[in-house]
Parts: sequence; structure tokens; C-alpha cells
Amino acid sequence: MRLLLVEDEPQLAGQLLGGLKDGGYAVDHADNGEDALHLGSTESYDAVVLDLGLPVIDGVTVLEKWRDEGRDFPVLILTARDGWSEKVAGLDAGADDYVTKPFKLEEVLARLRALIRRSKGHSQSELHCGPVMLDTKTSRVFVDGAQVRLTAQEFKLLSYLMHHAEEVVSRTELTEHIYDQDFDRDSNTIEVFVNRIRKKLNVPIIQTVRGLGYRIEEPAETAG
Ligand code: CA
Repeated sequence: MRLLLVEDEPQLAGQLLGGLKDGGYAVDHADNGEDALHLGSTESYDAVVLDLGLPVIDGVTVLEKWRDEGRDFPVLILTARDGWSEKVAGLDAGADDYVTKPFKLEEVLARLRALIRRSKGHSQSELHCGPVMLDTKTSRVFVDGAQVRLTAQEFKLLSYLMHHAEEVVSRTELTEHIYDQDFDRDSNTIEVFVNRIRKKLNVPIIQTVRGLGYRIEEPAETAG
């Protein structure tokens, strides 16, 4: 999953950036409203963490513009401790949730997981497909109850596909949502990852849709 982090305070931004990357996200960072507006309008994100007090253009205005443009990614706003009016303005502008400063990183991560799940139509933290279970909370994968060890990149890829089960996901979309802006993107590596995941799972849930991409499907023998 790929996030946009918008925070102008260098120390807090650094902590969040580290924590989000450790949490398994590809993250782009903007430290002012103008850059944030541009990135959110042109790049593909699964969620945005948006501080409201920003230089150049304030966070509420940035959010309103995104929503006017039809950008519908979930947005988690960061608000000041006693900023109830800011919170209301943010939610009215189209924010999906908020965290009040100072916050624990764990709370930001938990709220993001919930927002991303819900935005893709899942209410549970465990995603299932046939005998495969992916736990978004602990970043672990099980097949028939036995844990399968995936690398961080493999997990990111499988997690994105499972959030979009039954949909065809193109290699370009995978590349865009798994790597951050600075990553050297090569869509061939996606195929390598997919093949490794298939071997490790040893259950045929990832279908190749020729010329289009991949689709997660229940294996035929457990579908009925
Ligand atoms: Ca700020």
C-alpha cells in the first residue's frame, strides 16, 4: 500500500515516515500544502495522512480541492490537542478519521489499516481466500493455519491483491501502490515476486489474466 504523508514539522515527519515505512507502507512525503495538493492530485495513494496546519496552503483547503477533483482516497487528519474546530472543519472537508497530537504511532497505524480495509470493502482485519488468511494487523500469512514466511515486498504485494480480491489488478497498478516515488520501478520484478509468492503459498489463488494483470480467486476445489 502506498501513502502520502503531509507534515511540515521535520521531527514529527521523520518519526512518522520511519514508522509508516516500518509498518510496510511505501510513503511519499510533502512538507507543505502546495506539494501535497500536487502529489495527491497526480499520484495513486491508498490513504493520506494529512496535518492540517501547513505552510503555503492549509490542510483543509488541500483536502477540499482533492475532494472537488474527485480524489476519493481515505484521509486521516492530524489535529492539535485542543483543535476541535479544526477537527470539525477537516471532517466536513472530507476527512475519514482523525488523530489528535500528541499521538502514539500505533494508533496512526491501526486507524490507517482500518481506513484502507474499509475503503476496499473489508470490515475485518483478517482477509481470507480459500485456505489463505492474511492478517493485516500482524502482517502475517497463513495457509490452512500454518504460517508462511513472506518477505516485506512479497507481503505488500499479496496484501494489495487480497484487498482487491476478485478484481483484475494490473502490473502498473501494483508497481504504483507497492513502491514509493523514488523507487526504481521495474514491472518485471512484480512477476518475480508473484512467482515466489505462488511457490510459498502452494495454493493457486493468484491467477494471471493474460495481457491485463493478476486476480485473486478462491481455488476451484474450495469454492463450492
Ligand atoms: Ca503543522
